[in-house]
Amino acid sequence: MQVNRELFDEVMVPNYNPSAVIPVKGKGARVWDQKGDEYIDFAGGIAVNCLGHSHPALVNALKEQGEKIWHLSNVMTNEPALRLAKKLTDATFADKVYFANSGAEANEAALKLARRFAIDKFNEEKTQIIAFNKGFHGRTFFTVTVGGQAAYSDGFGPKPQDIIHIDYNDLETFSKVISDKTCAVMMEPLQGEGGIISPEIEFVQGVRELCDKHNALLIFDEVQTGVGRTGDLYAYQGLNVTPDILTTAKALGGGFPIGAMITTTDIARHLKIGTHGSTYGGNALACAVAEAAFDTVNTPEVLNGVKEREQMFRDGLNAINEKYNVFSEVRGKGLLLGGVLKGDYEGKARDFLVASAKHGLMTLVAGTNVVRFTPSLVITEEEIKAGLARFELAVADVVNA
Ligand SMILES: *Cc1c(COP(=O)(O)O)cnc(C)c1O
Repeated sequence: MQVNRELFDEVMVPNYNPSAVIPVKGKGARVWDQKGDEYIDFAGGIAVNCLGHSHPALVNALKEQGEKIWHLSNVMTNEPALRLAKKLTDATFADKVYFANSGAEANEAALKLARRFAIDKFNEEKTQIIAFNKGFHGRTFFTVTVGGQAAYSDGFGPKPQDIIHIDYNDLETFSKVISDKTCAVMMEPLQGEGGIISPEIEFVQGVRELCDKHNALLIFDEVQTGVGRTGDLYAYQGLNVTPDILTTAKALGGGFPIGAMITTTDIARHLKIGTHGSTYGGNALACAVAEAAFDTVNTPEVLNGVKEREQMFRDGLNAINEKYNVFSEVRGKGLLLGGVLKGDYEGKARDFLVASAKHGLMTLVAGTNVVRFTPSLVITEEEIKAGLARFELAVADVVNA
């Protein structure tokens, strides 16, 4: 069988348009394709591969658990799920954990819980969800409707109701919109897909205060920011604002699909037996790998290392920018960074991604105007330098095109 990009068009639903390159092997922040060509990975599978590819701790956990037991369903619990839940609650504000298989599913659980909590505890009218333009929360119908790009939820018929969107960092509008009918506010503590947009500290604090005033739950979607990405275990810890519900996925499994919603005992008790569930959620194999990823990331060495690597990226990108003048700024936090394009390059983020791939570098975009970097949290200095050198070649190509 010829396994190539053409086969994709033949057998796959056409909702993606992947690159012609088909990677077959990865080690650390390096990846090799079918032809043996080597790439440096600054994309990390979209902020997922927090420990790079084939990290020994994850490979060991996978092999070890793989020979014990993979799956039981939630008719029985399992040791890896319980251990991981204990570690998640020990390391955060939360007391309780619900496991899912993805970010969208974790968010779906968070939204359903918030609605159920408000209806149980207050009244049937308390259903409004406030979310933010450019926010991204996944692709189930509820989460994509809460997301801040109507284009993603249009065209599927009637949408989940009572969801309102306002601008991120606009506390004044927020204070006018929130009321006792608001059941929850869902936000990313740094917008990822929307363009690497950091929250202003007064904004997040103001949102927290107004949520308290109106008995609305604050849900932080940390699917992209969580598990060390910003240099804190979770981004809320760096903001000194604690949510009521937090969702985590992407890096949680280091490449194995898993998500989780975490919250307090008082809120969690509203998801009574039978109210919500998932066949795979809390699967033993997924939790064993995630436990190994969590143990590895949740150390001062790795978390402080993220801040050091951020500086290397910023220095390198700024040096490239001094030569080529393509970015108006490099923004973000930790290893969730974006180069914002300016002038003639505005809206051309994809050109930089394509040029990077030609020089053996995997990058990402966030919207059309931001080149996004979400590498492994343990990428080596050598890999960063080599990758930035390739990025410089790519920038030169775009500039000279
Ligand atoms: C990626 C992402 C999601 C969706 O996660 P999936 O695993 O693709 O369902 C949700 N929220 C944020 C902030 C994300 O970055």
